[in-house]
Parts: sequence; structure tokens; C-alpha cells
Amino acid sequence: MKKISLLGATGSIGQQTLDVIKCHPDQFQLVAMSFGSNLELGRKAISNFSPSLVAVNDFNAYSQLKEEFQNITFTYGAEGLIEAAVISEAEIVVNAVVGSVGLLPTLKAIECKKTIALANKETLVTAGHLVTEHARIYGVDLLPVDSEHSAIFQCLQGENPKSLERLIVTASGGSFRDRKREELADVTVDEALNHPNWSMGAKITIDSATMMNKGLEVIEAHWLFDLPYEKIEVLLHKESIIHSMAEFHDRSVIAQLGSPDMRVPIQYALSYPERLPLSSTKQLNLWEVGKLHFEKADFERYRCLQFAYDSGKIGGTMPTVLNAANEEAVGAFLKGQIAFLQIEDLIDKALTKHSVISSPDLHIIQEVDKETRQFVQTLYS
Ligand code: NAD
Ligand code: MG
Repeated sequence: MKKISLLGATGSIGQQTLDVIKCHPDQFQLVAMSFGSNLELGRKAISNFSPSLVAVNDFNAYSQLKEEFQNITFTYGAEGLIEAAVISEAEIVVNAVVGSVGLLPTLKAIECKKTIALANKETLVTAGHLVTEHARIYGVDLLPVDSEHSAIFQCLQGENPKSLERLIVTASGGSFRDRKREELADVTVDEALNHPNWSMGAKITIDSATMMNKGLEVIEAHWLFDLPYEKIEVLLHKESIIHSMAEFHDRSVIAQLGSPDMRVPIQYALSYPERLPLSSTKQLNLWEVGKLHFEKADFERYRCLQFAYDSGKIGGTMPTVLNAANEEAVGAFLKGQIAFLQIEDLIDKALTKHSVISSPDLHIIQEVDKETRQFVQTLYS
């Protein structure tokens, strides 16, 4: 029985993680969970899984739940999130919160020698060097939940990582893949939230539309698989059937395929190195799909992809700025405060203004994250 702490239980990944846990009650047990403010979903998860510790970000939700469930321990705020991440009973921490708020709990969980199932890509973008070094020092596995990285991780099983030549990260193209750049000026929030292949949280759906999601994933892949950016490519593949590929020195390419369903990579991270059945997932019949399409990624059409490669290559605090500026800009777009194409402009301005600091420690990362958010806010408010 693997004991799990789930950070971000009410989100898209969080809910699908609960689904996986529910499918295998003899394999997995939820011992702790956290969530932001969705009281209804939080309450339901507590009733269904009876974790011993629940961390709630919102104080009012915390106070209410504490009255309702008297035999469960509740904590709240940023410290509560860390308490859930380090709880002694858990062996695995699934980090499914959104944003760089996931960084500190990940580092603390690593220090407590928890295996990390990482959906929260912003953690690796904002401070990939700290997280991977921490994992190495404490001898902890960082298991990818992101479907592309899970695909690559699966392709690498049994291979010598030294014979890896190139990673090919596939991209659906997001909500606006069939529109020209000129047609993006006045798209609405609702249109942007309508992803053709995946149902996900709001922030990552917007990131998919700007292609920043793929940019963040390139940086994530750089840290997880220790390859230079020149050897990580993005390939447009609108069907989302090939979840990514690994090319080896002998030019052999291994791909992982499947119907798009995040429960597959989530479950693989939880069951690794074993595989468990997942009968509720649609079987892949390629005759039903018919054709698979591929296109070269266009860096002018998707400026965020260029920003991500540039920031990743510069390194130091640049990816921290990229991530923080993106989080702020996407937040502003979702609130209707800026237009879609302004997301790119605000990120561009934040990157241009920043003087990079190399090998930043946690304190510097946190300061740069905060300053960048404040700077971006001055640009639109
Ligand atoms: P979501 O918005 O649906 O859920 C986020 C969760 O984090 C919620 O439970 C929310 O309550 C919680 N949360 C938000 N802010 C918090 C805070 N300050 N403190 C504590 N908890 C907080 O997001 P999602 O789509 O599930 O994505 C989660 C992460 O997984 C993101 O990093 C995303 O990029 C990554 N990811 C998601 C998908 C997907 O299919 N949704 C796929 C790959 C990777
Ligand atoms: Mg992904």
C-alpha cells in the first residue's frame, strides 16, 4: 500500500489523481491533501477518502471544515501546504498545485525523502537547478506527471540515458491552433479556455493557447532529462496521440502513444515501476484516428515558445522571470484586464528589463519572483 499526500486535490490533476486512487484501494491510500478554496470539492474529497491531514489555503473554508469534520486535523495557508507535503505517513507527494507556490513544498518534501510525482511544472521552471540538485542530494525520485514527460520517461525505461540524442516534445497547438496570428487580437477568455483535446485547469489552458505551456515543458524536460536545449524539439501534433518521443544515438526513435487521458501518466507516476490496469481509459484504435499530423513549430506565430527557449538557455533567474511574468499576465487575462496578445508583451517587457543573476539560491528566486509580479502589475493596472 502506497501512502499519498496530494497537493491541489480540487484541481483538474488533483481530481483525476483521486480517481486513480479510488480505482486501486488495495494499492493507494490518501493520507493528506491540500486545496485552495473550492469548498464543495474539498468537502467531497474529505468525505470520500478520510485523509488524516487537510491543508486549506482559504481561512474561511478552513474554519468551516474544522467544525464539520472533528476527527480530521486541518491546517491552513502556506505553512499548511508544507505540513501536508512533509507529513510523516506519506511516501509519495503528488504536487498538483498551479504556479510557483509549489516550489517550497516540493523542496521540503524532498528533504523528508518523499518520492515526488510532479505535475506542477512551474516548480521546475522557476528553480529547476535547486529542485534537481535537492533530489540528487536526498536521493529522491522526481517522477513526471506531465503527459509529455511521462511519455519520455516511459521511452527511457531500460535505456542508457547517455545514448539519448534528442527529445521530441509534441504539442496540440491549443485553442487557437487553426487561427492566424492576426486573428488573435480580440479573442475572448471563453474562446481561449476551449481546448480541443484536453480538459484542464484555467491557467494551463491559456498557456496551451499561447504555447507557453510547451515552452515551460521544454524547460521542464531540460531539468528532468538533463539534456541541453539544442537537443529538445517541439513538434506540432494536433491529435495528441503521440505524447512525446525519444531519439537515441543510433537514430532509433521510441514514442509513447495512447488516447489523451491524464489519468494514465498520473497512475504511472504512482505505480512506477509497476503498471496497473486502467480500464476506464479509452483503448487506442489507430484505425479510428485514421491519420496523425505533424508540423514544425513556428516561433514567430508562438512568441512564448521563443521566450522560453531563450530564457532557458540564459538560465539563472531568467526562467524565474519568465514563469512569474507569465503567471501574472495569464491571471490578468483571465480576469479580463488585458487582451490575449498582451500576455506576450508583458512577458517580453519583464524579460527585457531583467538583469540575470546566475546560480540563484532560494531567497533570490523568491525575491525575483515577487519583483517580477509587481513589475508586471504596474504595466496594466
Ligand atoms: P487547477 O487550477 O485545476 O488546480 C490547481 C489546484 O491547486 C487546486 O486544487 C487549487 O485549489 C490549488 N491551489 C491553487 N493555488 C493554491 C495555493 N496558493 N495554495 C494551495 N493550493 C492552491 O490546475 P491543474 O490544471 O490541475 O494543474 C495543476 C498543475 O499541473 C499545473 O502546474 C499544470 O501546469 C500541471 N499540469 C496539468 C495538466 C492538466 O491536465 N490539468 C496536465 C499537465 C500538467
Ligand atoms: Mg503537458
